[in-house]
Amino acid sequence: MSDQDGKKTLGLSGGARNGRVNQSFSRGRTKSVVVETKRKRVVVPKPGSSSGGAGGEAVKRPSGVSDAEMERRLKALQAAKSREAEEAETRAREEREREEERERRRAEIEAKEREEREREEALKAKEEDDQRRLAEEEARRTAEKAATDAPAPAKSADPQRAPVNKPGTPTPRRDKDRDDKGGRGKAPERDGRRTGKLTVNQALAGRDGGRQRSMAAMKRKQERARQKAMGGPVEREKIVRDVQVPDSIIVSELANRMAERVADVVKALMNMGMMVTQNQPVDQDTAELIVEEFGHNMVRVSDSDVEQVIDSVEDKPEDLVSRPPVITIMGHVDHGKTSLLDAIRNAKVVAGEAGGITQHIGAYQVTTDKGAVLSFLDTPGHAAFTSMRARGAQVTDIVVLVVAADDAVMPQTVEAINHAKAAGVPMIVAINKIDRPAADPNKVRTDLLQHEVVVEGMSGDVQDVEVSAMTGQGLDDLLDAIALQAEILELKANPDRSASGAVIEAQLDVGRGPVATVLVQNGTLKQGDIFVVGEQWGKVRALVDDKGERVKEAGPSVPVEVLGLNGTPEAGDVLNVVDTEAQAREIADYRTQAAKDKRAAAGAATTLDQLLAKAKADESVAELPVLMKADVQGSAEAIAQALEKIGNDEVRVRILHAGVGAITESDITLAEASGAPVIGFNVRANAPARNAANQKGVEIRYYSIIYDLVDDVKKAASGLLSAEVRENFIGYAEIKDTFRVTGVGNVAGCLVTEGVARRSAGVRLLRDNVVIHEGTLKTLKRFKDEVKEVQSGQECGMAFENYDDIRKGDVIEIFEREEVERSLT
Ligand code: GDP
Repeated sequence: MSDQDGKKTLGLSGGARNGRVNQSFSRGRTKSVVVETKRKRVVVPKPGSSSGGAGGEAVKRPSGVSDAEMERRLKALQAAKSREAEEAETRAREEREREEERERRRAEIEAKEREEREREEALKAKEEDDQRRLAEEEARRTAEKAATDAPAPAKSADPQRAPVNKPGTPTPRRDKDRDDKGGRGKAPERDGRRTGKLTVNQALAGRDGGRQRSMAAMKRKQERARQKAMGGPVEREKIVRDVQVPDSIIVSELANRMAERVADVVKALMNMGMMVTQNQPVDQDTAELIVEEFGHNMVRVSDSDVEQVIDSVEDKPEDLVSRPPVITIMGHVDHGKTSLLDAIRNAKVVAGEAGGITQHIGAYQVTTDKGAVLSFLDTPGHAAFTSMRARGAQVTDIVVLVVAADDAVMPQTVEAINHAKAAGVPMIVAINKIDRPAADPNKVRTDLLQHEVVVEGMSGDVQDVEVSAMTGQGLDDLLDAIALQAEILELKANPDRSASGAVIEAQLDVGRGPVATVLVQNGTLKQGDIFVVGEQWGKVRALVDDKGERVKEAGPSVPVEVLGLNGTPEAGDVLNVVDTEAQAREIADYRTQAAKDKRAAAGAATTLDQLLAKAKADESVAELPVLMKADVQGSAEAIAQALEKIGNDEVRVRILHAGVGAITESDITLAEASGAPVIGFNVRANAPARNAANQKGVEIRYYSIIYDLVDDVKKAASGLLSAEVRENFIGYAEIKDTFRVTGVGNVAGCLVTEGVARRSAGVRLLRDNVVIHEGTLKTLKRFKDEVKEVQSGQECGMAFENYDDIRKGDVIEIFEREEVERSLT
């Protein structure tokens, strides 16, 4: 090893022996490389003693160095050598010391380990000892028990037996033996041996260690589950949240609202078998499962919840104060509704207010002579009354049913009664036109009986007042009757809350923007209030009352014009005051969207269903489309019903549109699109409609008698019936014989037995009264001549077109087809 070192370390500065080489080398660096080579050669014969060799070599090396120099170097070399030797010695010593230290430490560790083991085993032994003692005790007790029953000798044997308790003793003994051995042996070996020879106890102990950990984990887990089941907080201070979940929610948003990690939520969903990503929506039910799984409280919310901000608190009875009644006047056309309203208005308003009536806002208030305030709605028409009700605006408290004393109960009177009854609104009958000579108020009263309206005059509970809008007779009585009815109704409202009301009228005013007449139903509407009305919202910019005056606020039952809307609402829309503009906007947006969705859904449904129904229905049925306008709704309905009854399986009348009022341009457009005639019952087309009809070639027919109208439509529909084809038998011929004629085929020699044989007619060949062929004739000959007709009793020759199988004795039936126009009955 050292030789190798020497050779190798030529280029290195080396150990003690190499010093020589080193020296020559260090010198050789500058001058004598050759010397070095020689040196080496010299070195070879005496490799033995290093120090002697070194000295000799030094002496024999005067070459380029002086003795002094040489000596100095040698000394230095020796010094270095001795230093190296010292260092080596120190290193060896240190090494030894370290080794000893390590030994000592190992011993210490071993000792410690041993001690620990011993302690453990001692503990175990103690435990077992305890167990054993317990067992012994148990055994002794049982033995004692037994002894009380058993004879004496058994008792004496017991204490001796006790120490040699079988299950207890052997185990500690074995343990102790092993302990001793373990003490003598080395720790690792002993461990190895131990693992190699597992005893039940060790195994148990070992497993115990493992199991203890898992037991703890299990316990923690159980504890968590228990707490969760009890709804308590789970381990880490978990905050149970009320999680608001709308109809559908994006997974990440759900996680966000629960303040849980998105990944956890996705995982939970996956565990439920729903493979969703965080950006997908889940429905409310799924969300509920998740929310529960995470231990939060689910709060279902719906988009419509935005409406919840609308104050719907019930008023306390003590807050309620009486309010004026709201009255609607209804009745048959021309029975004097408008006249009556005007009469009341003129009588009361003009008399009271210097300014008089300055504007029409669709509703107004009057004060009776007795001081009762009444709010009248300008008659909106029966359908409007009901459609307003359908929109949730039950504005009317009392209906005044106007019946003309000279006309009695008419269709629209009945309609009005039905509307009022459906709305559950009490009625007061105003028997109008009492000034007329033909007036017969009692006829009105008896007529009304038929419709279950029993007036007071007929010992019923419906008030009836005889009035004349013309003369003003009975008007005060009517107002008193209304005031009385209002008192009975005990109408109340709370003026000290945010207002709610209903739109009576709304229009887009050129100068003022959208304007709505609102009848305040509860609370007080004030200037500056933010409100939502139907699909619109706004902030009250100004309030104008029925006299055209600006007001700051409007209380219950007060009709008022509202300015400051951002769009035009519809009659019947409900107005609600809300707190903030944001809320108002949100609700309006929601309603707009909901209405849109509804329209879309309805549209889609109709399209599909209707398309199917139409496709089915149109298969074989001809339709006569009709557009019909009438003067009043009652007539329109009656006519529509009558028209719908026209028709049979093949033809029917389809009413494109049945409306009330003049025929307009849009009616013409609609009629043109379907190629329908326009029927006007007691109405006329306006000028633009007439022009349009002329241009587009749409027929307009006017009627004033329903019967005429229906009859005409019936005739028109009849025109759609496909003509019936009838067969007329014109003759019979009997085949007497058949001949073969070249170029013609088989020819039958016949005798016309009945009627005539006509060449143009259709023929059937009957054999034993069974039709075996139906076709036309190729020839009809009388003697050699082609003839058109052969009379009964004459003989003739006949040949069939495309048919040859004719036999003697067959009968030919000759018939003609006739198309017959049909009409609807
Ligand atoms: P509406 O269609 O129900 O509104 O009835 P109107 O108010 O337009 O009245 C129809 C017609 O009856 C008008 O020509 C009125 O002048 C007339 N009229 C209304 N009330 C009375 C009344 O009390 N006496 C008489 N003689 N005519 C009346």
